[in-house]
Amino acid sequence: MRNIIVTGGSRGIGAAIVRRFAENGDNVVFLYRSNDRAAAEVGVPCIKGDIRDPEEVKKMISRAADYLGGIDVLVNNAGIAQSALMGDISDTDYMNMINTDLSGAFYCCRQAIPYFLRNHSGAIVNISSMWGEVGASMEVHYSAAKAGLIGLTKALAKELGPSGVRVNCVTPGMIDTDMNRGYSKVDIQAIVDETPLMRIGKPEDVAEAVFFLASDKASFITGQVLGVNGGYVI
Ligand code: NDP
Repeated sequence: MRNIIVTGGSRGIGAAIVRRFAENGDNVVFLYRSNDRAAAEVGVPCIKGDIRDPEEVKKMISRAADYLGGIDVLVNNAGIAQSALMGDISDTDYMNMINTDLSGAFYCCRQAIPYFLRNHSGAIVNISSMWGEVGASMEVHYSAAKAGLIGLTKALAKELGPSGVRVNCVTPGMIDTDMNRGYSKVDIQAIVDETPLMRIGKPEDVAEAVFFLASDKASFITGQVLGVNGGYVI
């Protein structure tokens, strides 16, 4: 039974990841920002706070670790998205994106690493995006943050490998969650038409990849980027 922390576990992909570990019998605590009702429905212990704030992250990770009795796996999943032309992205929009989708993961890793080092083992799985690999028009700040998360993954894998800690990254394609509610049926169909497996993804598709990368079955895998996108990016 492992001790798992998942950020952004109240909804969507994060909730599916939390459930995947919980149904395996692991001890899970998840973090979320504000949606109390969704968090309660997941039915797993959770801590409310903002991953954009390093001081809050310090408190949340240490509370979670105290409750669990240590940390074996950290999944950095919390994130936001925004669709806008470059010229319409304000300084506030830009900083909000970078602080949530990149800095939040940085802060969580920094707080969790001492627990991993103590045991000379552990796994971090970061949720990036296929847009961090290939770039998305009208999502420049999102693509930049997600590309940064891939860079963080690779660098941290090199730094922590000798200490027995693995760091990997999953890059989902379009997944059926609240994040994509703003897209029209036509927009979604256009993605499906370009996807070899001819559908968008389910949160459980991503959860399964995360579960694998966090498991001992992936014990010789670190610094890698696993696409879960139905073949949209090959
Ligand atoms: P959702 O919008 O469904 O859920 C986002 C989660 O992140 C919620 O739990 C939310 O908490 C939490 N969160 C957001 N901001 C903060 C913050 N500042 N502090 C703490 N928690 C926060 O997103 P998805 O499930 O769709 O996405 C999950 C991850 O997967 C994201 O990183 C996203 O970029 C990535 N991804 C998603 C894709 C998709 O098509 N859906 C495709 C590729 C990548 P609360 O409920 O309280 O608001």
